[in-house]
Amino acid sequence: MSKVVRCSDLGFDCPAVVRAETEEAALRQVTEHARAAHGMETVPPAVVERVRTVMRDEPAR
Ligand SMILES: [Zn+2]
Repeated sequence: MSKVVRCSDLGFDCPAVVRAETEEAALRQVTEHARAAHGMETVPPAVVERVRTVMRDEPAR
């Protein structure tokens, strides 16, 4: 299973999709993406909670 987070599900007008093996890795990638693409120096806890909410499991290919 992969963890999948769509940036658009977080309220951004953005086509980026993060895929990772674990929830921790997905959160880390979302944090890096938010900083690189959206200029967020830090990701507030409320956004981290939202990431967990929209995170989906995707079967491995
Ligand atoms: Zn984005």
